[in-house]
Amino acid sequence: MAELKRRPKQTIVEKIAERVGIIPKLYNGPVETLPRLTDEGKLEKFPPAEDWDDWTEYEPKGWATRETKNYRLIPTTCFNCESACGLLAYVDKDSGEVRKFEGNPYHLGSRGRLCAKGPATINQVNDPERILYPLKRVGKRGEGKWERVSWDDVLDDIAGRMRKALKEKRHNEIAYHVGRPGHEGYMNRVLQAWGVDGHNSHTNICSSGARFGYNIWHGYDRPSPDHANAKFILLISAHLESGHYFNPHAQRIIEGMMKGAKLAVMDPRLSNTASMSNYWMPTYPGTEAAVLLAMAKIILDEGMYNRKYMENWVNWEEYLSARHPGTEVIFENFIEKIREEYKDYTPEYAAKEAGIKVEHIIEVAHEIGRAGERFATHTWRSAAAGNLGGWAVARALHFLNVLTGSVGTEGGTSPNSWNKFKPEFFDNPPAQKFWNELHFPNEYPLAFFEMSFLLPHFLKEKRGKLDVYFTRVFNPVWTFPDGFSWIEVLSDEDKVGLHIAMTPTWNETAFYADYVIPMGLASERHDINSYATHGGTWVAFRQPVLREAARQEGKDFEFTYEVNPGEVWEEDEFWIELSWRIDKDGDLGIRKHFISPYREGEKINIDEYYQYIFERIPGLPEKSAAEGLTPLQFMRKYGAYEIEKYSYNKHLKKISDDRLAGSETDPQTGVIRKDGKDIGVLVDGQKVEGFPTPSRKQEFFSQTMIDWKWPEYSIPVYIKSHIHEDNMDRSKGDFPLVPTFRLPVLIHSRSANSKWLTEIANRNPVWMHTSDAQAMGLETGDMVRVNTAIGYFIDKVWVTEGMKPGVVACSHHLGRWRRPQDKIGNRWGTNTVQIDKTNSGWKMTTISGIRPYKSDDPDSSRIFWSDGGVHQNITFPVHPDPISGMHCWHQKVRLEPARPEDKYGDIFVDTEKSMEQYREWLKMTRPAPGPGGVRRPLWFKRALRPSEEMFYMDPPNN
Ligand code: SF4
Repeated sequence: MAELKRRPKQTIVEKIAERVGIIPKLYNGPVETLPRLTDEGKLEKFPPAEDWDDWTEYEPKGWATRETKNYRLIPTTCFNCESACGLLAYVDKDSGEVRKFEGNPYHLGSRGRLCAKGPATINQVNDPERILYPLKRVGKRGEGKWERVSWDDVLDDIAGRMRKALKEKRHNEIAYHVGRPGHEGYMNRVLQAWGVDGHNSHTNICSSGARFGYNIWHGYDRPSPDHANAKFILLISAHLESGHYFNPHAQRIIEGMMKGAKLAVMDPRLSNTASMSNYWMPTYPGTEAAVLLAMAKIILDEGMYNRKYMENWVNWEEYLSARHPGTEVIFENFIEKIREEYKDYTPEYAAKEAGIKVEHIIEVAHEIGRAGERFATHTWRSAAAGNLGGWAVARALHFLNVLTGSVGTEGGTSPNSWNKFKPEFFDNPPAQKFWNELHFPNEYPLAFFEMSFLLPHFLKEKRGKLDVYFTRVFNPVWTFPDGFSWIEVLSDEDKVGLHIAMTPTWNETAFYADYVIPMGLASERHDINSYATHGGTWVAFRQPVLREAARQEGKDFEFTYEVNPGEVWEEDEFWIELSWRIDKDGDLGIRKHFISPYREGEKINIDEYYQYIFERIPGLPEKSAAEGLTPLQFMRKYGAYEIEKYSYNKHLKKISDDRLAGSETDPQTGVIRKDGKDIGVLVDGQKVEGFPTPSRKQEFFSQTMIDWKWPEYSIPVYIKSHIHEDNMDRSKGDFPLVPTFRLPVLIHSRSANSKWLTEIANRNPVWMHTSDAQAMGLETGDMVRVNTAIGYFIDKVWVTEGMKPGVVACSHHLGRWRRPQDKIGNRWGTNTVQIDKTNSGWKMTTISGIRPYKSDDPDSSRIFWSDGGVHQNITFPVHPDPISGMHCWHQKVRLEPARPEDKYGDIFVDTEKSMEQYREWLKMTRPAPGPGGVRRPLWFKRALRPSEEMFYMDPPNN
């Protein structure tokens, strides 16, 4: 066994500390040795899996006494962003508690590495103010008074109310609104078992813009860049510090760069990502598409495009026939015509629009052309989420992938679904026979997800009401724009009957709930994860680690809340129990969807649910058997499994003879149809799957856009944003505000219960370029009034050269709050505020910033930071893009030095003006129906897809 020599030399500080008795005597006598706890060669970066059930290591806090601790290491996955990196929970065998979290080396996405938010899960678990028991409001909604109730009380009350609504056919009054999903299909199955069209999400404040841009090209709504194998990477995002999928992508971007790839970043802010790039292009927000199309023009003009890919996989024949009738349908004519289409997108024009260097545009275009099939790209939130027409940025970016033939290639950019596992369920309830216009209103037929941020406005307009409303790990009052409108409707019991906040931590929305029910953190819940982090496909298992520890120790329990801290539960089991009680007699047809596939007629349990899925993952049963494990045991032990190492070029997958039997091939388009559905396409003499679009190809030309009344967008173009320079009156102090950037160590709404994270980041000043600050007479730390269309917020400025002149930015992560009546919750990161209703709106003032407080955690007395930042999102009006439905986050703001009466953190909002803004943007829409009387193109995906007849505004069976 090897030995480590202790460093014999003492520092002066150590000597003094010893002498005054602050630390024990360290160096008495001869040099000591510290034995290693494992054999040499065995301990590398991670404890070996064979030792995970009995792992001993030195106790960091007992360093002077050589104390050791014995652990059980149990894998789970992080829940602090969408990446779901692999965690290893260290469960102390003496105390039975989780001691810390480190990386799981078997996780294929994160490969043992974590960002700061992963290990900080331990803060959330041990937060002295976390919600440990189900709570019911006492007094008026929003009053801040709660009583502890039992899970039985909660389940019976909600189930009774839902049963009544379902019996009375008020299905559209039940809604489940999710912030962080983090699982694969679980809830969709439950909602369809209830028969409701009740799924609502946060997606339209997050990613719908980019999703629409990708979808209109090839029927897939997200990219999966293969950064590690790329030659050139173009990011319109900040993936080295945040974004989908931050840590897994960041490590692969660096891996690619270490192998020689170059990186270009478009961002008006010198982000950490931009600072690492070869080309930082600080584009004026919303002009990115102009730059991308100028690059496309260069690639076309200079013949750097991939002719074979374009000829085979772009619907150019359709384009020529539709846009240039009479022109001979040959590929050369296509190239000639599209060169004409983009003739005005010169590098000079784009450089002027974006305020960047012409040479950069030309140089990056050449780099892209040279990278060819090894060109990886990503846009996430950022431009696509900030601008009117932001979806056109993703569309223009993907155009470059199409031109270079880097769609689905090694080192290129695949559709995300190619790198994502889809579970097979034990039971598939039928699609619901309802269409809920509170979620998918007719004005937004192409909206990629639910118009979730307009829910308050729809409720105010009396388009419907909610009888049972679940908010699940979701905090719209704070995260969404126009939070005061949310407060108004959530406070009104005629609009929202019963509000159940399912959350692991207190949040501003939970203050306005009837029940606050504690749901598990990363180590306290079951979920399946699979994300497009690279060119392969994997599945990971989030599991309640104390449950697994209890199982290994042979303890008896039924539900996860029996072994979790307090009575913290998990959604999976909660939904099974609730569904069972809603259908207490089995007469609603719900119970039959929760019957065990292994025990006839009995209610399924959570082990069986996952057992069924894991037994059907290709290769997992064999791999598990080789270790003498069942698939469920394998996943409980390792927490992850690699399904496919590489998943490239799936569009070339040949259609089997069986599937082809009885099919027909369209002689003009090559599209192969069977049983009324398109199943593939004939390309280059091969019958292959292609892409899920009407042409089964990449749709440079979109008949769908024409059919849905947007002919001006039938091909990729640049759309001027609502914050375009043309709309700014600089003489009056107008600026575009970029409010979307993330801080690497914070989570949207779930880091205020983490002491480490809030210690690192706790303020969100307005970033302003030196020249702008000088012009306004401001210095770092000076206060500024940021006027939006519906109100204002008072923040401090941070003067920096790292911001594009003429543009300001502010991170949305800070400014968490609680009111005086909310006695506890998130005190590591919340300001105490006073909220007053005034004649013309709502005023929020900060009573106090963050303060030390006494609790079971001595660190809470040591809080030294006092600034909790400013809540900017609540001062933003809704800006629904008329096509993608995305909330366009960027704001035109008018800046002025703070007035004498202004105090830091002051907020004012006029919710009447919010409604006016909503109506203004509504005017831009071109409502359904589309061709054939449908509400939405049938080939578009729809979250929780209803049965097909519901797509017709006048359903055929009505
Ligand atoms: S990137 Fe960080 S926060 Fe996100 S899942 Fe990984 S460790 Fe957790």
